[in-house]
Amino acid sequence: MVFSVLDDCKALVLFSGGQDSTTCLGWALQNFTTVETIGFAYGQRHAVEMTCREPVRQAIRDINPVWHNRLAEDHVVDLSVLGALGDSALTKDIEIAMTAEGLPTTFVPGRNLAFLTFAAMVAYRRGAKHIVGGMCETDFSGYPDCRDDSVKAMQLALNIGMARQFVLHTPLMWIDKAATWNLAKDLGGQALVDIIINGTHTCYYGDRSTKHAWGFGCGTCPSCALRAQGFQKFSAGT
Ligand code: ZN
Repeated sequence: MVFSVLDDCKALVLFSGGQDSTTCLGWALQNFTTVETIGFAYGQRHAVEMTCREPVRQAIRDINPVWHNRLAEDHVVDLSVLGALGDSALTKDIEIAMTAEGLPTTFVPGRNLAFLTFAAMVAYRRGAKHIVGGMCETDFSGYPDCRDDSVKAMQLALNIGMARQFVLHTPLMWIDKAATWNLAKDLGGQALVDIIINGTHTCYYGDRSTKHAWGFGCGTCPSCALRAQGFQKFSAGT
């Protein structure tokens, strides 16, 4: 069924099963009455994050009855073609390092542009006006497709190209990882913080065998380092 009018109370969250998108899910559950989620399988090395998604959805639903009623369908889109096209440390067994262009080898060109496009295709079909993503400029990586201008340009392109009035929300765009932990606490209290620590996945190498105060991960890859640093600052209350 295709909805002809977008529902202003309905949101679709790009939900990977990581810290940022789980915080975004909490933010959406606070702000919209119907919240659906979408995940992309793109041959990521840390495919374990995909298995975190459903348990996190279940746990977040139990935080309070309002969120329980608001959380709706989940959609998983197979974008394995991204892994075949890109030569990235995120999808291939190559070292995670900085390139001469100043971008990490984890950069998958156009990944977030593709995610937003596919999210809009699903939002169109589901009649959701709001699309929520965890893109962040403050992040260490400097991925150009996470920048505010990229997201705003995508909103314009999608609205013109699909003749819809989507609103793309990026609640983490200007905050750092410590503030992201704080936002989670504000939204869902310690229960949401605990879900993020125990249930979400961030490590680029997909390590879920080592548990730290901030959650599971190798502890040394750039993604783990950032999450650990943010948690430390958050715990210190600074
Ligand atoms: Zn790691």
